[in-house]
Amino acid sequence: MNTRQCMSCGAHDAMQHFEGRSLSVDYKNVSRWVHDIAGWECKVCSEIIFDNDTDSAERYSDVGDKLLKDCFQIMGTEMKRIRRKLHLTQKEAVKLLSGAGHNAFSRYERGELQPPQALFTLMRLLDRHPHLLVEIQAMNEGTDLKRLLAARFPEQETVLAS
Ligand SMILES: [Zn+2]
Repeated sequence: MNTRQCMSCGAHDAMQHFEGRSLSVDYKNVSRWVHDIAGWECKVCSEIIFDNDTDSAERYSDVGDKLLKDCFQIMGTEMKRIRRKLHLTQKEAVKLLSGAGHNAFSRYERGELQPPQALFTLMRLLDRHPHLLVEIQAMNEGTDLKRLLAARFPEQETVLAS
């Protein structure tokens, strides 16, 4: 009997057994292949269940873990390279670019944590346009925001501290 009921959509005899198939593991825009996978696929909802009698699930999950690890490593190495290129200490980079979490920042650089998309994008922009760092420094002083605040709520006598 090479068909069985799908546990995902409930369709009867919809799951068919397969083996020797290559499946891809995807993260962002990269994929890695895992070969010789055995399992069941639902022809109604496309759900795939790995064959318990093989090491398919384990190998698939190992490739996924390794892909994530490698991606975090690359992102971390890039962040460190860019931070050094900008002549920032980790502490300065946290204050200027991420706003919080010194511990998290060093973990991003070590490839232990996925950096927030916005932070990673900002750093890559600064890699291409390092002169923008001066503008970020000016923005962090918040003079423009203080001026807007004072204009919007004049009765509060907002102080324009420098
Ligand atoms: Zn199904």
